[in-house]
Amino acid sequence: MHSQLDLVQARTKSYIQGPHRFLIGGKAVDPSAAAEFHITDPSTGERLSEFASATEAETNAAISAARRTFDTGLWRNVSPAQRAQVLWRVANLIEENRQLLGELEALEGGKLIGAALNGEVWAAAEAFRYHAGWCTKIEGKTFKPSIPGLDLEGTTRLEPVGVAGLITPWNGSLVMSAWKLAPALAAGCSVVLKPSENTVLSALRLGELLGEAGVPEGVVNIVLGGGRTVGAHICEDARVDKVSFTGSTNTGRALIDAAKGNLKKLSLELGGKSPVLVFEDADIRAAIDGAAEGIFSNAGQVCVAGSRILVHTSKFDEVVAGISARADALAIGPTMDETSTLGPLISEQHRNSVSSYVDRARSEGIEVVTGGEAGDGDGYFYQPTVIIDHERTSCVWSNEIFGPVATVTPFETEAEALALANDTEYGLAASVWSENTSRVQRATRALRAGIVWVNCHGIPDMSMPIGGYKQSGWGREHGWNGVEAFLEHKSIMQRVMPDPRADG
Ligand code: NAD
Repeated sequence: MHSQLDLVQARTKSYIQGPHRFLIGGKAVDPSAAAEFHITDPSTGERLSEFASATEAETNAAISAARRTFDTGLWRNVSPAQRAQVLWRVANLIEENRQLLGELEALEGGKLIGAALNGEVWAAAEAFRYHAGWCTKIEGKTFKPSIPGLDLEGTTRLEPVGVAGLITPWNGSLVMSAWKLAPALAAGCSVVLKPSENTVLSALRLGELLGEAGVPEGVVNIVLGGGRTVGAHICEDARVDKVSFTGSTNTGRALIDAAKGNLKKLSLELGGKSPVLVFEDADIRAAIDGAAEGIFSNAGQVCVAGSRILVHTSKFDEVVAGISARADALAIGPTMDETSTLGPLISEQHRNSVSSYVDRARSEGIEVVTGGEAGDGDGYFYQPTVIIDHERTSCVWSNEIFGPVATVTPFETEAEALALANDTEYGLAASVWSENTSRVQRATRALRAGIVWVNCHGIPDMSMPIGGYKQSGWGREHGWNGVEAFLEHKSIMQRVMPDPRADG
């Protein structure tokens, strides 16, 4: 095992080694409990450092700080233009910290260093710039009520929802944190963020940068720890008005139960089993490249990964061969090696889960065309895998595997393709590959998914709402919808009295 610690700048190494403190009320707070979790490099399996879970008292303190700053208007009463300036400064600071943040994502989050530096850090900065623009555009409406005999004036006002709990997964910790913090802060909320216990470092650094940029103390609080302890506490606490969660569908269900005490508002960005529809009239080369990228990027640990590839029978063999060739050409390797094109899965446990799905599919008689085994070395690598699934009864057809595993299935007709695409409890994303514009329109209308890409797959944009139909979630992130998710609508009706000094 070659440590990747020696490949990062000294500042990153020291940041990784800790100590790792919570951010509560604007102060870096030393945990009172003993360390419980390890920070592990998934490329090597090396334990890099450790951190403690927040106790009940520490989680309470974080929620209290958020509550206090919200109730006293410390942030929500800051003028929209000033809030915008602060968010813009956060974006600049993220870019100034590019190397550190990128290396943290590479060592702890299993992101290839090039993608981390040029994709993740850029996307996090962009989230703050985009939402800086919304701060000054949060506005209500006026309307004329129709009640006979009364002179009334109606207005609507948008107000921050209150204290927001932000709970994020590990597959893009920096970006997921930014995607929640930026709209919550644009709306004027105070927050408590709990990153995944697998990836805490970039979120902690981001918390520090928010303070440097001018977010007042206590508006953003960050606690670390397990989902069922710290995460559940945030979701159950009646002082929290809203929870914005990204993670698995099963955890999403648990949150619905936890949130019911004070009926807190919930945004749920959950799992997916997204179809990629390749029609016979597609640019097949582009479709093969796009489908391969759509499932193997970030080793398949992407919520919108195109894990079910549906191909017209006339192009089936060509697409299977093409995607398999792309899979075989990937260079599996550690994230700090710039020649690696496929990094590790996040943990040994997760690799075992991916591996057990493929093994089960094999035992169900499914053909594994390429891959299907763990990668070499101490890291949690898994080979890019292509499976042919004609029957659609196997475990790989219906379950979100969250690894570099594609099932490829043939179809005869457009109607069959659309029925297969919608044959899932999820509804997060889909892509359609075709040069026939009417077919594209029919397909985008029929697909039950929150995002449909045409002749591309998996490209996010801050202006494009993302979220799920069916069991892929509640609500949308990004665009105006994402800001609105942190706002309450208030209607105000005013009776306009006649001027007592008027004649008659
Ligand atoms: P997870 O559900 O296991 O954990 C997500 C977060 O929830 C973590 O911070 C965890 O500590 C916390 N958590 C766990 N149990 C909890 C509980 N009972 N109460 C409160 N918090 C709890 O998900 P994961 O394995 O970290 O991430 C992978 C999943 O995330 C996949 O299903 C993926 O599809 C999904 N995801 C969805 C999107 C989207 O935009 N729809 C984006 C990224 C990831």
